[in-house]
Amino acid sequence: MNSRYEVVIGLEVHVQLTTKTKIFCGCSTEFGQSPNSQTCPVCLGLPGALPVLNRQVVEDGIKAGLATNCQIAPRSIFARKNYFYPDLPKGYQISQFELPICEHGWMDIETEELGQKRVGITRIHMEEDAGKLLHNEDNSSSVDLNRACTPLLEVVSEPDMRSSEEAIAYLKQLHQIVVYLGICDGNLEEGSFRCDANVSIRPWGQKELGTRSELKNLNSFRFIKQAIEYEVERQIDVIDEGGKVVQETRLFDPDAGVSRSMRSKEEAHDYRYFPDPDLLPLQISEDWIEQVRRQLPELPEAKIVRFQDEMGLPAYDAGVLAAERRLAEYFEVLVQLYNKPKICSNWVMGEVLGALKEKNLEIVDCPVSPELLAGILLRIDDNTISGKIAKIVFEEIWQSGKTADQVIEEKGMKQVSDTGAIEVIVDEVLAANPGQVAEYRAGKEKMMGFFVGQVMKASKGKVNPGMANQLLKKKLSE
Ligand code: ADP
Ligand code: MG
Ligand code: ZN
Repeated sequence: MNSRYEVVIGLEVHVQLTTKTKIFCGCSTEFGQSPNSQTCPVCLGLPGALPVLNRQVVEDGIKAGLATNCQIAPRSIFARKNYFYPDLPKGYQISQFELPICEHGWMDIETEELGQKRVGITRIHMEEDAGKLLHNEDNSSSVDLNRACTPLLEVVSEPDMRSSEEAIAYLKQLHQIVVYLGICDGNLEEGSFRCDANVSIRPWGQKELGTRSELKNLNSFRFIKQAIEYEVERQIDVIDEGGKVVQETRLFDPDAGVSRSMRSKEEAHDYRYFPDPDLLPLQISEDWIEQVRRQLPELPEAKIVRFQDEMGLPAYDAGVLAAERRLAEYFEVLVQLYNKPKICSNWVMGEVLGALKEKNLEIVDCPVSPELLAGILLRIDDNTISGKIAKIVFEEIWQSGKTADQVIEEKGMKQVSDTGAIEVIVDEVLAANPGQVAEYRAGKEKMMGFFVGQVMKASKGKVNPGMANQLLKKKLSE
């Protein structure tokens, strides 16, 4: 925290929706197809073509609004935002301006510095994306309009954040929500979740906001943090040197870790917004809102509470497991099959997440399904295998996709619980380590761990450790 200046941040986030078709036409939104193959007169902006609003986009907008405590407008308007650029064939972008679909929302975020804090959401509006310019080696440029008319939600926050930590906490939470809602794939690198950060500083105690700059091209959480921190330092330097911060748009260069001025306020566009005469005002009834509300999944915040209250999990476990919707689903299926939540949680957070991370896989690609994992846990429970062997079984299942019972049978991993057999091994271990036996008998009880370890080693982990312990104690006190 700076001693002289307070930092003020407001964020604008573009959320690309995962609808199958575009916002105003039936063209596919699939990524990575050959240039201009997903176009029609509407998204090419041909004269006379008329836009037709995609119902799913409206429902996604309502979902986002409800999940962020917004008021859903009963009537909202599409406007034309006019500017010229070769990736925008119509010469205007259809967006919402004066009457957006959602307003007056908020999210409670949490940071280590300050704990919980409420950040206002000014508005969420629907709009279309532009196409993409491809710059060729011969210095010519080509335009691909597959992305033109792809649906976006723009989520605009109040200037309520006071540090880069708060900005990141807000963004991560918003990201988590739109992915949970299933309306966005959340991929920052591919541009499905794009953030512009507005940053200003002001002397502590000053009411009016300072002059802001707007940072663009921030395609990872790390870059966003870096860019904000760089910008705060830059503005402090400008003021300390007697200068004035000018309102401008700056482009972040992640390689250099600096931002550069792109355009100042004087060069800013005048978009000459006006209502789009081709689209009727959008009416949203209470019934429709309620219908959408009923489709909302349980959101992470509620899940975290339930995992603690109903399952008795520690807050930490609940937070990790609820962080991702698919992970939470995996965990809940597992608990249904093996009703000891804390043991399930340990395995999911330990073995499952560990292995996924190592192999760089997502939970949906986990080769050990909840059903297969429950099979392992049940065999630990009935003493067929030890916890240690269970981890080997887990790896085997990961490789082969077989069930725990198959693996245990084929590899002869059943725990030895037959006293006679264990006794033979115990005798061997004691005979091979007379020095340690003497130490133990002289009062060094810690040696017990050593003996149990030796027995487990000699049996390749198959001896029931409780029984080995008992037998060792008995033999050593003879
Ligand atoms: P524009 O559309 O021109 O970017 P807006 O008024 O819609 O302008 O503001 C966009 C974002 O900038 C909002 O998230 C808002 O909270 C934030 N913002 C506005 N003024 C400031 C400021 N002085 N410092 C930091 N953020 C600001
Ligand atoms: Mg802006
Ligand atoms: Zn089209």
